[in-house]
Amino acid sequence: MAILEKVDKLHQAIAWQGDIPITNRYTAGVAGERFLREIKDHARILGTRCPDCDLVYVPAALFCERCFAQLDEWLEVSSQGRVFTFTVLFRDLEDRPLDPPAVLAYVKLNGSNGGLVHYLGEVEPDQVFIGLEVEAVFKEASEREGSILDIRYFRPLKR
Ligand SMILES: [Zn+2]
Repeated sequence: MAILEKVDKLHQAIAWQGDIPITNRYTAGVAGERFLREIKDHARILGTRCPDCDLVYVPAALFCERCFAQLDEWLEVSSQGRVFTFTVLFRDLEDRPLDPPAVLAYVKLNGSNGGLVHYLGEVEPDQVFIGLEVEAVFKEASEREGSILDIRYFRPLKR
């Protein structure tokens, strides 16, 4: 098939299998590193506050999105919050079935104007709703490695 030919049926597409050696290095940035290090070392979630806009950013940011002020007021925010929105995944990125399905949510954390996109756990997908109160479940200290996945998932708050 020549390069200028149009593929209008997927079975006409040609794929070559192989490996491409790629190396890269990603940094979380100044604020991201401090944010992730606090989760790893102390199982705490940090935000930064803009005093002019009275906004608390989570994940912590170095600059205010509204007024562009440099943010240097760091504070711990709650590891509890509410499901702001969510989705249920039935297939993985390779299109393989997920059994059980995974639930991803944007959790708005108490004491902040932000939150985290993360897995929900210890809950059936049909039991999740917008506004559900949840809390972070951290991995054991020895298992934490400076990743957002040091939070294992958020689970419904037990009352
Ligand atoms: Zn601001």
